[in-house]
Amino acid sequence: MNYDLQRLEIAQGVDIWKPTADMLHDPNVLPQSSPCEAVFLGLPLGECGGVLMANIAISRLATQGSVYGNHEATHGADATAQQEAMGVRFGDSPDIIPANSLYVISAHGAAPSVGAAANERGLQLFDVTCPLVHRTHRAILDAPAKGPSHVAYISFGKPEHPELVGAAGLAEEAGIPFSVLGGESDIDGLLAEVKDGETITIVGQTTNNSDEATILARQIQGRARERGITVAREKSHDVCHTVRDRQLSAREIVAVYNVGALVVVGSVNSKNTKSLADVAAKEAISRELPLTIYLANSWGQIPSIEGRVGVVSGASTLAQNVHGVIDRLAPTNGVIKVGEDTDRGIVFSPVDTKTRGLFEDEDKARRRS
Ligand code: SF4
Repeated sequence: MNYDLQRLEIAQGVDIWKPTADMLHDPNVLPQSSPCEAVFLGLPLGECGGVLMANIAISRLATQGSVYGNHEATHGADATAQQEAMGVRFGDSPDIIPANSLYVISAHGAAPSVGAAANERGLQLFDVTCPLVHRTHRAILDAPAKGPSHVAYISFGKPEHPELVGAAGLAEEAGIPFSVLGGESDIDGLLAEVKDGETITIVGQTTNNSDEATILARQIQGRARERGITVAREKSHDVCHTVRDRQLSAREIVAVYNVGALVVVGSVNSKNTKSLADVAAKEAISRELPLTIYLANSWGQIPSIEGRVGVVSGASTLAQNVHGVIDRLAPTNGVIKVGEDTDRGIVFSPVDTKTRGLFEDEDKARRRS
């Protein structure tokens, strides 16, 4: 069977290719015919701490009973497929799940009513919300502590992204005014909503393009100041470190290492993976460098690539998929690492005590070491 990559040309000299739907289901379709010259590998690589924690928790729970999730634990297509093969079901409403089943809130978090509905149904609740998403939730809930506040949430993705849905639901249930901004054109709407005496608190989705989030936050601050509105920016609560550092590595690979191609390894429905392609494309355009970007979830979704090739990975990508891509590229001059592995040594603990119990052995081992 013949498969074609889909070409999305975005500017003169910069192309993005993505696999067709058929290719997503058959990982072995595009043979590599010749080795590339060298691979420039962006760090951090593979799953971030939050995704790893969620995947481990779900696979442990799957040995204990019937597991249901409010939605996929992460956006890693392979991890989700593995969990579904273990019998885990995602997306069912608590109303139809048998009592006593195990119910997992995903790494993206959820509004409190989701957990309440699960408790009411008699489900055993486990919360694998990433601690960094949880920190954003705390920032939203703490916003009114110093007086009336309106939360401005920066998100460039789809309105149905679970992280945005969870944050918006949390604010709504707590009665905190909340607006979503995806660009400068949304600022007028925000300012029209803010009432006299309210402060604007800016937070953001953890997986945004960090440059664009910073620019939009500054635009909000500037326009609000003109209107005499005080703005608090929760700097530590927006783009998470692992997403930001992967983006920095992608930019460095394009800007410094003269690569002709960049493979972005990750799931097609992962926002932070798509952001990597976005920042790399923008870097190439701004420097007028030709670049071909391949979005691929696994080694079978890239064609034969010659020359110097960059490889970066989304935060929900299994590390084994990144290694599979490198093996496939078979670089004759080896692999050069770019950036810092800032995920190394960081171990996330679940925010929920019951879920923490699933990691007791590791915690004891950590205390001993
Ligand atoms: S990408 Fe960042 S916010 Fe999302 S799960 Fe990983 S560490 Fe947490």
